[in-house]
Amino acid sequence: METKAPRGTYDILPPDSAAWHYLEGVLRSTAELYGYQEIRTPMFEHTELFERGVGTSTDVVSKEMYTFFDRSKRSLTLRPENTASCARAFIEHRVYSGMLPVKWYYIGPMFRYDRPQTGRFRQFNQFGVEVFGSRSPYLDAEVIILLVDILSNLGLMEYELHLNSVGCPKCREVYREKLIEHITPVKDSLCEDCNQRYLINPLRVLDCKQASCHQVIEGYPTLAANLCDSCQQHYSQVQSILESNGVDFTHDDNLVRGLDYYTNTAFEIHIPGIGAQSAVGGGGRYDGLVEECGGPATPGVGFAMGLERLLLALNLLNLQQTGKNGLDVFVITAGDQFEELSFQVVQELRTAGIKAAKDHNGRALKAQMKYADRLGAALAIIIGEDEVKSGQLTLRNMGTGEQQSLAAVDAIDRIKEMLV
Ligand SMILES: [Zn+2]
Ligand SMILES: [Zn+2]
Repeated sequence: METKAPRGTYDILPPDSAAWHYLEGVLRSTAELYGYQEIRTPMFEHTELFERGVGTSTDVVSKEMYTFFDRSKRSLTLRPENTASCARAFIEHRVYSGMLPVKWYYIGPMFRYDRPQTGRFRQFNQFGVEVFGSRSPYLDAEVIILLVDILSNLGLMEYELHLNSVGCPKCREVYREKLIEHITPVKDSLCEDCNQRYLINPLRVLDCKQASCHQVIEGYPTLAANLCDSCQQHYSQVQSILESNGVDFTHDDNLVRGLDYYTNTAFEIHIPGIGAQSAVGGGGRYDGLVEECGGPATPGVGFAMGLERLLLALNLLNLQQTGKNGLDVFVITAGDQFEELSFQVVQELRTAGIKAAKDHNGRALKAQMKYADRLGAALAIIIGEDEVKSGQLTLRNMGTGEQQSLAAVDAIDRIKEMLV
């Protein structure tokens, strides 16, 4: 029986892998432009890290984790996201005792047992940034501006940025009570999930996917109207920094993050015109996370974005740029007796930094030409009887079909000029 890739996973074959190189290149270079450096953490962690760092009441932890016991009966989990791992690394390596803030970015696969659909997979790729060690609203704004800049570097100039503040544990406690008071009389009209969880976490009702739940709680008290003075001030600062840097946003009362360690800024970015899965990234401030994961109280802010969604957006909006990924030169061998010579020529080209390859299946001339085309070669060199006798190479431009002779001794310099 033929074994297929597991449901919700997929292969990236060439030439599609070039689109990933392009995307990852833009992500890395933009992050580095802002002074962020890459962190790489393990693909799996102790399960309890995600229980604490993501929260047991979230769908991610309660329903979607790939959790398994290793041969020593430890409970391990394939990372469903990377912020908790970054916090763990920040604590484990005592990064907090060095110069703060640290600005990290990461890129790589995450794993969630979710229902696969367009733009959603069980193994998917995320890019994200995390800043640990500063409360400055300039950093809330910086990560948002970085996200917007990444989109614009990809050609995605149109975006919708939703912004809210979820306050701090102090003002949120007062708010929770008000919200519960507002919901209790209408609780029986809520969906089953909301009805069950509104007493434990009433904020979750605000981001329920059922439209009916939103109608039922209409006129609810908003977080924005219930922030304490310092949270209010932080939020206005973030907004004014974004305004003075030309970043458009919409205040969104429904944008909430239900866990205690999330504080102040919450944001989400959508690309209009790409269908239901329009959110390409989101994040916010999490001043309580490092402490929740067992470290010293340390503020943090960051975001994550889905790479599959970004590529989907680029595709749908015809923006995908793959860059050049084909061969520079394909060496065509006209006769078995020139195998060794053409192999050497290929190797000389490579030594000179020219991407080169040749046939290895004894193809006829025409078939070699076709193969060269398939491999995206810009040029072909033909090596045969005439060429060896005359010390001249025949060079073919694969785009135009034009052929010319050149002296073998100058070949590398000439080819380099032509490839510029
Ligand atoms: Zn507050
Ligand atoms: Zn609901």
